[in-house]
Amino acid sequence: MSDYELPPGDKWRQFELRAMGFRSFAGVRSDAPLNPFRLAKFANLLVLDFEQIEGLSVAAREHLLGFASEAWSGGACSRPLPDGRKIVILNPNHGRMRTNATLMEEISHVFLGHQPNRLHVVTEDARGRTSARDYLKADEEAAYGIGAAALVPYSALRRSVLKGQTSAQIARHFRVSRELVEYRLKVTRLWRTYRSAHVEGNAPENRSPTA
Ligand SMILES: [Zn+2]
Repeated sequence: MSDYELPPGDKWRQFELRAMGFRSFAGVRSDAPLNPFRLAKFANLLVLDFEQIEGLSVAAREHLLGFASEAWSGGACSRPLPDGRKIVILNPNHGRMRTNATLMEEISHVFLGHQPNRLHVVTEDARGRTSARDYLKADEEAAYGIGAAALVPYSALRRSVLKGQTSAQIARHFRVSRELVEYRLKVTRLWRTYRSAHVEGNAPENRSPTA
């Protein structure tokens, strides 16, 4: 495998290899967007519409979709249904770009064989990065990191950067948020190359690499 297909750093190389496995399982080309909704059924996940949840009070529903909507992205119930499937519920307010990353993380947990304790809840901090409870911290990092690598693979990301594409263009192509693309640029150490191509004129890109 050439150096152009794997990012630097042992951990991120391992993550990339796992992500490549997910993508080849899904049958997508190396530069094509991955649709996690199509992959979910192979992970035995049943993605339920929020509106299908019964027994939620009006107040609870309003809280989850109103005031608290930015505080949760999605969750998976760790106890499977009798047929073995696990239920995943995604925040309907978050839009497809963010939901793709949330669902991909749940799929990663399953494919990586992680064992959750109870309900897996993904929350977001002010920067939009996911953090969650009930898996080991290392498992969380792997599921998120590998899920992100499956959605935005290194080799295609690198080619896009060398072609001078912006993070917004790359995000549109892979159907993810620009924040996820920038996270990938940073962890795969393409950020400096990216920044030097976009340092002038593109105000939204003028942010510190540690942000
Ligand atoms: Zn997780």
